[in-house]
Amino acid sequence: MPAPGELTFVAPRGAKKPPRHLADLTPAERREAVAALGEKPFRANQVSRHYFARYADDPASWTDIPAAAREKLAAGLLPDLMSVVRHVSCDNDSTRKTLWRLFDGTLVESVLMRYPDRVTMCISSQAGCGMNCPFCATGQAGLDRNLSTAEIVHQIVAAMRDLRDGVFGGPGTAASSDGTDVSGGRTRLSNIVFMGMGEPLANYNRVAAAIRRLTDTEPDGLGISQRGITVSTVGLVPAMRRFADEGFKCRLAVSLHAPDDELRNTLVPVNTRWKVREVLDAAWEYAEKSGRRISIEYALIKDINDQAWRADLLGRLLKGHRVHVNLIPLNPTPGSKWTASRPEDEKAFVAALEAHGVPVTVRDTRGQEIDGACGQLAATER
Ligand code: SAH
Repeated sequence: MPAPGELTFVAPRGAKKPPRHLADLTPAERREAVAALGEKPFRANQVSRHYFARYADDPASWTDIPAAAREKLAAGLLPDLMSVVRHVSCDNDSTRKTLWRLFDGTLVESVLMRYPDRVTMCISSQAGCGMNCPFCATGQAGLDRNLSTAEIVHQIVAAMRDLRDGVFGGPGTAASSDGTDVSGGRTRLSNIVFMGMGEPLANYNRVAAAIRRLTDTEPDGLGISQRGITVSTVGLVPAMRRFADEGFKCRLAVSLHAPDDELRNTLVPVNTRWKVREVLDAAWEYAEKSGRRISIEYALIKDINDQAWRADLLGRLLKGHRVHVNLIPLNPTPGSKWTASRPEDEKAFVAALEAHGVPVTVRDTRGQEIDGACGQLAATER
């Protein structure tokens, strides 16, 4: 049995680390870094404001900083982290998937989704994933490496800039030229889900630091509400307990996919280390400490996990807890022998959960035609 620490990825010897970036650093570390560059520590605040409040990483626009200092600060604190390989849009341009190339050629993806009342972004926390779930495209290719804090944060900074500039968001929803929001909030990024590539709790320190950068107020961070952030996990129990102790008010989503250990051992292999009961106990502890409902993710797979008895067992495990179930029709990966459940089985599954008083919704399947949210775009690039 692997010790908990063995689930933490160790980079191969000789692998180059992503360059250090402003978003990797706490406000105090930024001041130290600026001083080490031979500049006054207060310049750290100025650069932070340009990056986190204006999304401006071009030093030419930093007019409050002497020209001579700009290049030095930019070179030391805002190295190029990643570039867009391409954007792919669908759903009438309300969904956009971005494939990123990182400094070492590694590929990751993010997805931006516009709804009538909000904008949600799905981001990656690792390149690839080591959890090996057989229905997930990312799981098939294994883990390349952890993303740095800044590589996680920059996916969002780039999206916020595109939303502000009207590059994504559709006609009539762009912010005005002075940066104020004229759209009734529609173009502001309000929801972030760690449901792209990777297992966020296997890259714990960097993900926790990224949440602080996202939620610290300007200019220290982006000022996004913790309530709008969802961290999704396969159920790494010690990391879930540690997460509960951070004092975050984020939502925790647990990818359960089966209510019984026998089936879950095959769908979510890490279940052989931490069982359904332990995962749910850790989830209830998080609900208690954060005051937030737990989301249970359950991909409905035809004739695999969608039987009436499993719906009933799931209902019995969850009833009476602060919980919400998201049923996700399986998005089959290329070559997969599995498909989504029949409509009548999906309906019966919903009804069985409701009979136990467990709130449930069937998630919309945004981005299917662009292979959204399942690691498939990056997979075609390998
Ligand atoms: N590793 C984390 C987050 C990434 S996946 C986790 O597993 O929770 C985000 C969600 O998409 C998870 O619930 C995952 O189980 C689900 N998912 C992955 N592949 C899928 C597929 N082919 N169809 C439907 N849902 C899928």
